[in-house]
Amino acid sequence: MKHTILKMTTLASMAAAAVSCAPKQADFHYLIDEFADLKIMRYKVPGWEELSLGQKEYIYHLSEAAKYGRDIIWDQNCKWNLPVRHTLENILENYKGDRNCAEFAQFETYAKRVFFSNGIHHHYSEDKFFPECPREYFASLMAAVGEENADLLEIIYNPDLLSQRKSTNASGDIVAESAVNFYEGVTRAEVEKFYADMVDPADKTPISYGLNSRLVKGPDGIIREEVYKVGGLYGPAIEKICEQLEMAAAVAENDAQKQYIASLVEYYRTGDLRLWDKYNIEWLSDTLGTVDFVNGFVEDYNDPLGRKATWEALVNFKDMEASRRTEIISANAQWFEDNSPVDQRFKKKEVKGVSAKVINAATLAGDCYPATPIGINLPNADWIRREHGSKSVTIANITAAYSKAAEESPRSMLSEFAWSEEEIALQKKYGSLTDDLHTDLHECLGHGSGQLLPGTSPNALGEFSSTLEETRADLFGLYYIADPKLVELGILPDMEAYKAQYASYIRNGIFTQFTRVELGRPNTEAHMQNRKLIADWCYEKGLKDNVIEKKVRDGKTYFVVNDYEALRGLFGDLLAEIQRIKSEGDYKAGKALVEKYAVNIDPELHKEVRERYAALNLKPYGGFVNPTIVPVTKGGKVVDYRIDYTQGYMEQMLEYGHKYATL
Ligand code: ZN
Repeated sequence: MKHTILKMTTLASMAAAAVSCAPKQADFHYLIDEFADLKIMRYKVPGWEELSLGQKEYIYHLSEAAKYGRDIIWDQNCKWNLPVRHTLENILENYKGDRNCAEFAQFETYAKRVFFSNGIHHHYSEDKFFPECPREYFASLMAAVGEENADLLEIIYNPDLLSQRKSTNASGDIVAESAVNFYEGVTRAEVEKFYADMVDPADKTPISYGLNSRLVKGPDGIIREEVYKVGGLYGPAIEKICEQLEMAAAVAENDAQKQYIASLVEYYRTGDLRLWDKYNIEWLSDTLGTVDFVNGFVEDYNDPLGRKATWEALVNFKDMEASRRTEIISANAQWFEDNSPVDQRFKKKEVKGVSAKVINAATLAGDCYPATPIGINLPNADWIRREHGSKSVTIANITAAYSKAAEESPRSMLSEFAWSEEEIALQKKYGSLTDDLHTDLHECLGHGSGQLLPGTSPNALGEFSSTLEETRADLFGLYYIADPKLVELGILPDMEAYKAQYASYIRNGIFTQFTRVELGRPNTEAHMQNRKLIADWCYEKGLKDNVIEKKVRDGKTYFVVNDYEALRGLFGDLLAEIQRIKSEGDYKAGKALVEKYAVNIDPELHKEVRERYAALNLKPYGGFVNPTIVPVTKGGKVVDYRIDYTQGYMEQMLEYGHKYATL
């Protein structure tokens, strides 16, 4: 599973990243390009210098293994994607005509979009998109580089051909009508029968049948699987992946890593899905290594039948600074429980904190590139998760890059919705740190705190339980982020920092988060409900003391926190009440809170926030270029690996097109 949705406070705060990833080069920019509905960013790799030479070498080969799979995802998304890409590359590199005219710019935008989507369909909506330049112009570009190809032109321009990567036509055959390249000549019914015949319903450790193959009906009418493996479909790419994985294994950090890489390579050589399960179980057992990776046919979102997996890779290593933070929080879990503002009867006598694992990406590839998740929870097989658990990580440097890039943009949510320069400065100074910290407190302590009274059913809150549970965890974090204990523990620099989180939380909870809700619709998502519940409840309860003030300037509404200490008191009061509701299973009180504060959006405010957001014209989707990992040699020997951040978007796309061409 991928976590792709940025925490809304992160987006709203547009905050500065932690000091540890401050750019070294003065000219480093996070935001490097914007076109269509997309923005391209760079990410920093903090902690690289602290790695040993061996770890850097390990990451280098894992990254090469990641990049060698690039052509696989292109072919999986649609069988015409590689021919289209080769044509685009040829024109971009060899066209000698006028490159300054409007048509060429339109052609370039189309090429950038195709590179972004790993194909001719939008990476998110999955609809085919089109060049803005006329078809005749595109044909002339092709002719100029010796690529006259009427079929290809038809694929690119005809709206009726391959119109959706994954068909949403419920009345048609979603297998036959999808442009994805997982099936050839088969109907949905044939696919379903093919796999139903394979599955053993009594198997307690079921194989993920069909995960790593294309299903094809031959001229003889027989349906067969073309398996992705060395010597099979995508063999040349998989061979290069294996070669690099074996070079990585030679310099791995420990034997567990060597073992699971050996299993992964064996799986790639045989295509045997039992080995894929074995690899995943072994991968879960390595908790000591600093470096980790994903490399394989993993996610099945792109298959209309949810069975076949796209190829993806991500190389990463542990974020030492963030991990230190969550370890300290977890180690002090009992102190937080004992000192919380809830009734003694509802507190756990013995509480254990959870340490969240935070990583930094070093290379993104396949289906994780250029658009990437901000968190990952793997493996996907239910029985492995049940029996062996799963790894859940958040990718800190990617989240930080989103925030930094937004801040570099001349238009930002923060400058639009913050009341004063002072509030903006506070946010830029502490926003990213306190946002991460609030998430840590929510995840490591909030959900695990408190206990039910004897006899209270865990399901007593019914349909309101997830909203109330998220409310409880958020409040626990909000209450404690303003506690001097955090400064004492060395997690927060001073007693000013929390104010950034309070201001942005209120702004977001009361109104800026509703940029994502259609006008006239209620607020239905659990996390969004919880934020509204907290912000609106505190606004109302603080009215008499003017704790949060609604101000209007030039016809625009702002919500400003006047009294931070009083606001903390309100967070504590609401936490005590929500904990009581949960511990006693008070369904009626829970329902009343959600219905009064969490659901109905003020229509005037909603309209205003949507209009102000639209006027900012922000790009809804983002992706990244990878930093280049450069071997540094001395006397023919590699003595170090350096990270280089200078490569541009198109430059990287064209380089990868040559260097990692395998299919
Ligand atoms: Zn939660």
